[in-house]
Amino acid sequence: MKPFVAACALACAFALCVEAAEPPFAIAVHGGAGPMTRATLAPESERAHRAALVEALETGQRILAAGGTSLDAVTAAVRVLEDSPHFNAGRGAVFTSEGTNELDASIMDGATLRAGAVAGVTNVRNPVEAARAVMEKSHHVLLAGRGAERFAKEQGLAIVDPSYFRTEERWRQFRRAKEDGKLGTVGAVALDRAGNLAAATSTGGIANKRFGRVGDSPIVGAGTWAENASVAVSATGTGEMFIRAAAAHDIAALVKYKGLAPGAAAREALAKVVALGGTGGVIVLDRGGDPVFSFTTEGMYRGYAKGGGRAEVRVFRDEP
Ligand code: ASP
Repeated sequence: MKPFVAACALACAFALCVEAAEPPFAIAVHGGAGPMTRATLAPESERAHRAALVEALETGQRILAAGGTSLDAVTAAVRVLEDSPHFNAGRGAVFTSEGTNELDASIMDGATLRAGAVAGVTNVRNPVEAARAVMEKSHHVLLAGRGAERFAKEQGLAIVDPSYFRTEERWRQFRRAKEDGKLGTVGAVALDRAGNLAAATSTGGIANKRFGRVGDSPIVGAGTWAENASVAVSATGTGEMFIRAAAAHDIAALVKYKGLAPGAAAREALAKVVALGGTGGVIVLDRGGDPVFSFTTEGMYRGYAKGGGRAEVRVFRDEP
């Protein structure tokens, strides 16, 4: 009996060691930074946003758990948020001043620094997939407008009538206020079991933007960055200032060259955005799979899951 017990104990200890030595995987997502507080966000809206973020995280998590790549995980997580009408990306995108929807997205592979992006597309159901196709199936990094749309169609991606993007809620907002500043971009950063980082971002841009306007989300280095040697970043906020601050790349550079911790790097980069008159937030993931959520607004839709752990979602600033 005794040798049997000893053998069991040894086997268990070995299993625990193997478990502990398993490479970590993790994913973080955001659904935009903005002025939402408990007082201003309707409970149903809050529930819907939280549920979509959990679905996005769990979708990415399943891919990573099965040994899938961080690129597949961020693509799938962003696609979930694009398909949700609650975020300003894909279905649910805000309107331009002309009452149209123009979508931007980008993706980056931290292992190879390959990147792809599309800007100003009006009929591609999932812009993040078009960005991915540009990265993998073309020699280019950024395709815009009609050229991007034709490319997406040639690649066999789902093409929809532009009215697909026109949700009643956004249309009411547009008609009511013609206000600007409505935020809600989506993004994801992930680390896979092979130790590779990836990032993706997708948006309808800023409400009431001039048609033809392109923000930071499809600009590699501004709204998205991933580099195994530092961190993966997806940003949301007033795109013009994120472009001028090269915000996503700035965070990676501060980590890589100045040796800052990702949290300090995010704060320093966002301070530059604020100094330019901008506002917003970032999600950052390092190669240990640890996340940073940093934002200058009241709230940011955000969430995180590590390994097989529970998907945790937050909205307001004061949530622990
Ligand atoms: N950064 C996006 C843009 O400027 C908007 C947002 O994040 O809400 O297009």
